[in-house]
Formats: sequence, C-alpha cells, structure tokens
Amino acid sequence: MNIILLGPPGAGKGTQAQRLEAERGMVQLSTGDMLRAAVKAGSPIGLKAKAVMEAGELVSDAIVSALIGERLDGECGAGVIFDGFPRTQAQAEALDLLLSERGRKLDRVIELTVDEQALVDRITGRYTCANCGEGYHDRFKRPSAADTCDNCGGHSFKRRPDDNADTVRTRMAEYRAKTAPILPYYEERGIVARVDGMTSIESVGAAIDGLLAEPAVG
Ligand code: ADP
Ligand code: ADP
Ligand code: ZN
Repeated sequence: MNIILLGPPGAGKGTQAQRLEAERGMVQLSTGDMLRAAVKAGSPIGLKAKAVMEAGELVSDAIVSALIGERLDGECGAGVIFDGFPRTQAQAEALDLLLSERGRKLDRVIELTVDEQALVDRITGRYTCANCGEGYHDRFKRPSAADTCDNCGGHSFKRRPDDNADTVRTRMAEYRAKTAPILPYYEERGIVARVDGMTSIESVGAAIDGLLAEPAVG
C-alpha cells in the first residue's frame, strides 16, 4: 500500500505519517525531513536548499525527486507514506515514473483539509523531539510528562526556523499556487479521498484508518 498525504503546511501530515509508521510498519518518506537532514549535514543539496526553505519557497523538483528515488530503492516496509511530496505537477509525474520503474503503484491520495487560521496556530506552536523527531504542539499535543518525550524519554526539543507567522504565509501561498492544482491529476484516477483535518489528532487518525481498511482502488 503506497499513499500520499497531501495538505497545506501544518495540516497534520507528519503527525499521521509517524503514527502509521509506528502502527503499521509503513515507511514515512518526508522530503522536508530529508532536506532538513541535508541542511544539517551541510551537504551540497543542503547548501542549495537552506535559504529556499527559510524563505518558505519550494526546492527544485529535480532535487526532491532524486531524494525520493534514492529512498524508494531502499527498504519500503509494508508500503510508503509520501509526506510533503509531490508538491508540484512535475513532481507528481516524476513520482509516477519512479514507482512504475520499480513495479509499484499509488493506492491512495488522502487530502487533509484545514482552514488557514488554524494552520498558523498549528505551525507557530509546533516543536519536535531533538533526539527522535516525535512531533509535539504547545497546546494540542504536549508530552504526557513535562519536558520528556513520550517516545524516547529525551529532554531536548527544537523548533523549525521556517515555523514563523511570516514564512507560513509564503508556504501557504506556494501550496495554493503549486500543490493544490495537482489534485485533479489524481482525481481523474479515482484515488483521492478527503479527510477533515480540523478534528482532533485521534479523529483524523481514525478517519485515515477507515480509508485504509477499504479495498485499494485505482
Ligand atoms: P504537517 O506535517 O502537515 O506540516 P504536522 O503533523 O507537523 O503537520 O502538524 C503541525 C502541528 O499541529 C504539530 O505541532 C502537531 O502536533 C499539531 N497537530 C497535528 N494534527 C493536529 C490536529 N488534528 N489537531 C490539532 N493539532 C494537530
Ligand atoms: P510542511 O509540511 O510544514 O509544509 P515540510 O517539512 O514538508 O513542511 O517542508 C519544509 C520545506 O522544505 C518547504 O517549505 C520547502 O521549502 C521544502 N520542501 C519540502 N518538501 C518539498 C517538495 N516536495 N518540493 C519542494 N520543496 C520541498
Ligand atoms: Zn523523542
């Protein structure tokens, strides 16, 4: 089962992908995470991507498609969750090619819908465990013991430099202009399902689980 979680920044894609990975042995492929790792490592890709990401703009299609291709050659577990990829029509077409070359296909595209004011709140309150990457939120998902990661027991947390109210506006504009327009490409194949991302983390998870329990389409 290979699925895309599509939705604007802060919609909850990473939160749900992490859960699916833990519960189902699927593999989360987040181009944002891969790019942040490249920036941290100071690799050539990271050097190119850093300023673009800080501005909230999109990194080139060639770079992110190559990153995904490399990961599809590795261990894909019970299937892949594409999180934050594809974000443009060119990336959607590149993904089809990458999958067909490997004899795989896309089973579902799940669109998480959330209104823009809620997105700003989600993004400006977001932080992650510096050790394991588990996602948290100042109000909506706090660790059960103060300052201790539920997943790994770590005590150190971090925030993304691009998670500020200014950059969020650019990221949303990029989503509206370049990413939302790829939905019809998948709708034609009858594989798109919409989930109301405004409900609780648990309810969104239950809705996604319901979709994944239905027979694969496409
Ligand atoms: P994305 O990967 O789509 O950018 P995240 O999964 O990182 O989004 O979620 C953004 C922030 O909102 C995180 O801090 C997360 O804990 C929180 N969050 C995720 N889903 C929900 C939800 N359904 N309700 C409230 N907060 C949520
Ligand atoms: P979010 O889900 O909160 O929007 P991501 O972690 O997916 O954030 O992405 C962070 C940044 O990394 C994006 O604003 C963009 O600069 C870059 N990026 C991530 N994925 C892609 C992609 N598929 N294409 C182009 N740029 C990307
Ligand atoms: Zn942790």
